[in-house]
Formats: sequence, C-alpha cells, structure tokens
Amino acid sequence: RAEITTPEVLSEESVIELSLRPQRLVEFIGQEKVKSNLRIAIAAALARKEPLDHILFHGPPGLGKTTLAELIARELGVNIHTTSGPAIEKPGDLVGKLTNMREGDILFIDEIHRLRPVIEEFLYPAMEDYKIDIRLSEGPKATTITMPIERFTLVGATTRFGMLTSPMRARFGIVERLNYYPDDALELIVRRTAEVLQVPCDVDGASEIARRSRGTPRIANRLLKRVRDFAQVEGEGRITKAIADEALRRLDVDEFGLDDMDARVLRAIIEKFDGGPVGISTIAAAVGEDAGTIEEVYEPFLVQHGFLQRTPRGRVATGQAYRHFGYTPPVVTPP
Ligand code: ADP
Repeated sequence: RAEITTPEVLSEESVIELSLRPQRLVEFIGQEKVKSNLRIAIAAALARKEPLDHILFHGPPGLGKTTLAELIARELGVNIHTTSGPAIEKPGDLVGKLTNMREGDILFIDEIHRLRPVIEEFLYPAMEDYKIDIRLSEGPKATTITMPIERFTLVGATTRFGMLTSPMRARFGIVERLNYYPDDALELIVRRTAEVLQVPCDVDGASEIARRSRGTPRIANRLLKRVRDFAQVEGEGRITKAIADEALRRLDVDEFGLDDMDARVLRAIIEKFDGGPVGISTIAAAVGEDAGTIEEVYEPFLVQHGFLQRTPRGRVATGQAYRHFGYTPPVVTPP
C-alpha cells in the first residue's frame, strides 16, 4: 500500500517528528476552538494552583493529539509520563508511574480505547479520588491496600471515541475532538516545518503540498520532506510549485491525498453497490476493515471533501467520487 499518505506514524519518523513538534500553544496552528478551551483551562488551573481536569482528545491519527498533550505539560510547567493502552498489561505496570508522579504531572495514555477492563477499573479511583488499590496477594482472599497518589492529570488520546467505555468517558472533565485541517492551516504548517528544516519554500509550493495532505499535519510534514529531496537533487534546493507538483506526481500521491483505504471504500461503493446507498457494515465487509474504524477514521475525511454522503439509507458515492476514479456519475432522474 502507499505508505506515503498513511496518517499513522512510520517507524523511521518518530525521531524527526519530535523536532517538528510545536513547543508552545501559540505555535500550534489551527484547531482554534480546542486551543482557546485549553488556554482557559490552563490559565484557571494555574491561577487556582490546582491540577488540570482530565482531558480526552479524540480524532483521526496525525492531527496533533500527542503534540497537544506535550504542549499542555510545558504550559503548566509539569512533567509528562507517556504510555499507551496496549502497552499496559496489568495494573502493576502503572503503579510505578502513578506513585512517582508529582502534583499536577500529566499521565498521557495514547490509544486509550485499547486499555484492558482491569486497567480501566484500576484507573477509576486514581482519576476520581487520587488513590490506587494495590493487591498484595492473589486468589479469593487477596489482600489489597489503598494508597494515595498525588493529584495528577490524565490526558487520553483515541482515534476511536466510540470504543471508549462510557464510565471512562464520564471521567474526563474536558473532551475535545480534533478535526481535519483546512488547506490554509496546513499551508502554514508546511511553511513552519520548512523553516525548521531550513529549506526555502515558496508559498505556492507549500500550498501544493498542503492540498494533497489529507487534512493531516503528519502527512503534510512527510510530503514536505520528500519534496525537499527532489528540490535538492533535481532543482536548486528551493521548493517551488513546479517542483512540488512534479515530486508528488512521481511519488504517486493522489491529488486529494486519498489513501489506499479511502480509495477502496469509494471503489467498493461504486463498483460493487452501484454507488449506494449501502450500509457501513456492508462496506466494511467488502473492504475487510472494521466498521467502526471506517466510520471514525476514514469517513469524516471523505464526507468533508465531498466524496461521500451519509443518508438515512446508507452511504452514497458522490459525482466527484465517480469522476475521481474515471467513471461517469449516474444520471439521477427526478422522481
Ligand atoms: P496524533 O497524536 O494525533 O497522532 P501528533 O501529535 O503525533 O498526532 O502529530 C503528528 C505530527 O504533526 C507531529 O510531528 C506534529 O509536529 C505535527 N503537527 C500536528 N499538529 C500540528 C499543528 N497544529 N501545528 C504544527 N504541527 C503539527
């Protein structure tokens, strides 16, 4: 599959991503509503000298959830301890982290929807009353002791809001959804990254990269780096519109940034179901992906960009989707 447009982080990217992360909230581009809510919450917590409410960020991968967690820690002047749902096997894995935290510190749990139920149960009293139950032995007569911990802030991130249990959801005081970025915000992100990487980049060049980045900063930064290679090898080091165009064409980056799964979903609707309407679980079966993932990760982008419509009877491919794959849209006869 075309890895270049996947919104997930590629293994060789994690180090580079760190250097590209905005360090302060003012450097974080876009998501204005989220930022202003956070700014107020942070200022209030600092003024009251209290830990911040637990925060949940949800939305598709690569939109800045981890970055925001780190920014918040920096704005508050606290430490951040990072882990992820699948990495925590037993409550014991969290005991060290929780007992080592200082007041106000942040525990960041990525992919929080993948926490095992016993871990969730273990976290509830920690989140609510800042105490944890530690089992000293196993079996039916197990003894447990309750231990107080410092008042901390849990920041959770998930791409699958719908998979989070409702008791877990209810324990977050602040819940923010990150949306795909409009092209003008992505263009600013590309220009900022170009500055960090010290590569000259024309506004037109940046906007060409932005347009094909699937609304996703992670993809925008990745495309910029690949285009930079072209600019250095085949151009004069400067990212112009012409260089960006040529590089992205040769890298087979779809003009709208559609990735492999987007394309499979749309093609399935058009080729197997006459353009719809067709139910999400039927589409899921046809493309071999989980229905919830399609609904929460892929569909919002396709709807927002006019490739897909949601109707009460199911999903329908739009005329734009037909044309994108070289088909003629069906003529709709008025009833
Ligand atoms: P997520 O946790 O949602 O998957 P990340 O926080 O890891 O996403 O962000 C992915 C990359 O995109 C990071 O390298 C980060 O620097 C960049 N990025 C995300 N959002 C922004 C933004 N608003 N402004 C600038 N860069 C951003």
